Amino acid sequence: MVTKAITAATAGIDAYKIEIEVDVVNSLPSINIVGLPDNAVNEARERVRSAIKNSGFSFPKGRLIINLAPADIRKEGTNFDLPIAIGILKEEGIAIPDDNETAFLGELSLDGSIRKVNGVLPLVSGLKDAGIKTVFVPEENAREAALIQGINVYGAASLGDIVNHFAETPLKPTVVNINDFLGMHSEQDYVYDFKDVKGQQKAKKALEIAAAGGHNVLMSGSPGSGKTLMAKCFASILPPLELEEAIELTKIYSISGLLESDKPLITKRPYRAVHHTASPNGIIGGGINPKPGEITLAHRGVLFLDEMAEFPRNVLEVLRQPMEDGEVTISRTRLSIKYPAKFTLIGAMNPCPCGFLGDKEKQCTCSDFQIKRYLSKISGPLLDRIDLIINVPRLSSDELINIKTESESSAEIRKRVINARKIQTERYKDEGIFTNSELNPKQIKKYCALDKESSEFLKIAAQKYSLSGRKFHRILKISRTIADLACSKNIELSHISQALQYRVDMPDKV
Ligand SMILES: [Zn+2]
Repeated sequence: MVTKAITAATAGIDAYKIEIEVDVVNSLPSINIVGLPDNAVNEARERVRSAIKNSGFSFPKGRLIINLAPADIRKEGTNFDLPIAIGILKEEGIAIPDDNETAFLGELSLDGSIRKVNGVLPLVSGLKDAGIKTVFVPEENAREAALIQGINVYGAASLGDIVNHFAETPLKPTVVNINDFLGMHSEQDYVYDFKDVKGQQKAKKALEIAAAGGHNVLMSGSPGSGKTLMAKCFASILPPLELEEAIELTKIYSISGLLESDKPLITKRPYRAVHHTASPNGIIGGGINPKPGEITLAHRGVLFLDEMAEFPRNVLEVLRQPMEDGEVTISRTRLSIKYPAKFTLIGAMNPCPCGFLGDKEKQCTCSDFQIKRYLSKISGPLLDRIDLIINVPRLSSDELINIKTESESSAEIRKRVINARKIQTERYKDEGIFTNSELNPKQIKKYCALDKESSEFLKIAAQKYSLSGRKFHRILKISRTIADLACSKNIELSHISQALQYRVDMPDKV
């Protein structure tokens, strides 16, 4: 008799249904798993046999054939242990319903207990989409699974628990109220707050514009200018995650194994600081067992590259495509996987190798050639994807002491950012974009129209600074965000002149 059990496998942050068929034939005892299993799935044979025996159930005598269907997709991971065991138990006549509406996922210990697995959120989400009504998951993953509404979730601690569930001791379904998690964090949760950053009004305003319009930023300044601290503060002024974004982000962290069982939903926009020694696979994603890279972990949040000019050029270059597309494709044998990667890039760099070019107190010791070579690390095409380039001068101790005014708190800035985002969401509801940074040339024409006076002003500025078409568009996009922050329907002359204050080129070329 052939029995079956349903489970799922992930592809990127999505998942699809897998059917496991078990058959026993009269032959010498052995177990064969077919249907493109990877090593971890193949090793299920030993775990499943011990788990079944040690749970007090009998194990079929003869040759066991386990087929994972569809057969043309590689199956990886350990979540197949439990459904394979269920299929075998059914084969042994244990009363577990052989229906098409119940699925199982989990890794088995040799003693029959069920261990937590990665990717439960996308797996359960995929099962629900495939019409599954009930899913059994490891107890530790139950809350994460229950974030998917409209499917019954049971958390089980052992194989015995599941058999008993269908006999006389039903498990309790796990139910979570998703709204309990959202709005869970407030401004106080952030360690770094703009109120602790003295001075640097222009840089702070640029970061506010970046947060409001989703623009990428590059800060150039001497060591000690506070650019790293400001980059850390940036996360505290971003708008809260919408539910859909939170689920999407949680899927990413779930398959990466970065979800804590007591915090099943990611509720904060991520802030990923990447060091220049990180491997390309670590940043972009990939490797032998491909995992999402930093750019995907930074999805809907911030990717911070400190000392940006120190990054290997090839690493910076591979960032370009994801920055353009908002996703990254990782090619593999038989399958290429797409991971989302819509992040705001914050870059920081010194103005020259020694760090003190343009500093008021310290002398720069670099030659022109050294400076040129250093700055050329950030290529033109990459710069084209960075809307705001700002100079962050180091303040002298006298200047710092003389700053008497209190700095505005992140909470205050965040209010304006949220408001500006709302205006953009409403304006672009039929365009399929969310922020001004995503505007294409056609949309710029439509949404960044200027009156005659402003148009003349920008034309003169374009001639004076010899702005290329791309830079011209950048100025318009930033002006649109500045206008949104001021709750102004139209882009005014003052918004354009403010946008022009932000450097649109590398330090040595301005
Ligand atoms: Zn220097």
